[in-house]
Amino acid sequence: MIPLDEAQRVVLDACPPLAPVDCDLADAIGLVLAADVVADEQVPPFDNSAVDGYAVIAADVAVAPVTLEIVDEVAAGAASTTTLLRGQAIRIMTGAPIPQGADAVVMVEHAELVDDRTVRLDATAASGAAVRLAGSDVEVGDHVVPAGTVVSAPVLGTLASVNACRVRAHPRPSVAVLATGDELVSDGGPLAPGQIRETNLRMLVVLLEQAGCDVTNVGVVADDEAVLETTLRAAASEHDVIVTSGGVSMGDYDVVKAVLGRIADMRWMQIAIKPAKPFAFGLLDGVPVFGLPGNPVSALVSFELLARPALRRMMGMQRLMRPSVIAISDDGVERRPDGKVHFQRVVGAFEEDGRYHVTNVAGQASHQLAATAMATALAVVPDGDGLPAGSEVAALVLGD
Ligand code: AMP
Ligand code: MG
Repeated sequence: MIPLDEAQRVVLDACPPLAPVDCDLADAIGLVLAADVVADEQVPPFDNSAVDGYAVIAADVAVAPVTLEIVDEVAAGAASTTTLLRGQAIRIMTGAPIPQGADAVVMVEHAELVDDRTVRLDATAASGAAVRLAGSDVEVGDHVVPAGTVVSAPVLGTLASVNACRVRAHPRPSVAVLATGDELVSDGGPLAPGQIRETNLRMLVVLLEQAGCDVTNVGVVADDEAVLETTLRAAASEHDVIVTSGGVSMGDYDVVKAVLGRIADMRWMQIAIKPAKPFAFGLLDGVPVFGLPGNPVSALVSFELLARPALRRMMGMQRLMRPSVIAISDDGVERRPDGKVHFQRVVGAFEEDGRYHVTNVAGQASHQLAATAMATALAVVPDGDGLPAGSEVAALVLGD
């Protein structure tokens, strides 16, 4: 057996970041920027009102209350052509340009209409009050979003605010995923003796998409060497990555092992972890191939620990692993020394003591996906005799 970090190193070394491309903002969510975005526009583009109210000359409202003549009205999207004079006010809406001559806005909550053309303001305002200055968010020439930033929803909005319609980013890896195993049924039909439902593809497609990949679901491939070879070679010619499920265990002489062993440069690994001990990785015509084990829980855990970090590296991400917290194991963990780190499936939550507490899901065997599906974290249990209830344990947080 090899340690997990050695297996991770092998995989990560073979999966460098993909070469950056120019892409439309509409396609950029989740991508990592490969170049600084430099603003060539100011945000806001003009001085405008932060509130609904009355644009005034601050000197007129140095003492309150004061009565002013209303000479115009300006909504967002419009502009007033009136120049404000002493003793006057212009009704103004949030986001509307500050009229010529005005230098402050008094909010409508402090205004009372005396008649159509006269307003009484009962609050003072200093010059600049409730005025949002041009460029107060972004100035021309600002490196508004640096290279290495992951495009989140607010980043996307920021890029839109400076009219960055196209950005340079690491592309999504295109991934072909397939399952192997003659026992697998995926068409919803009845199960013949010895058959089971295909489970992993549906799960892996979503895990890959959630990791940011463009996914091709190749489906279940028959246990036929010629068919599998043709399928794998075609997948390698059109994709950045191939993910397979099944047929990588010790002593498993099925077609995945036979074909990949012959046509690709593979490492068949036994990793010192549980679940997901068997794992294969290699290059087929230069394309990384992840051979995940067939047991659904093992497929999930090896995806999390080995495939997902590598795909994130290809996308240019810096943080490759799930966030790790020091948790409290409310149940403790029973285990015996076996030379492996156990990735116990747990449900985690922050509780009133401010600590992240985890409880074990009911079934920890590698075929018990239904139990694992309830987990929100993986507790990292070192080799040894387990942990008493209330112990601290590292946990990788998978989701809410
Ligand atoms: P393997 O890795 O091919 O030796 O398979 C290990 C176990 O996982 C066996 O019990 C398989 O029947 C099961 N298995 C393999 N592939 C799948 C799959 N796609 N969906 C559900 N179970 C699978
Ligand atoms: Mg199999």
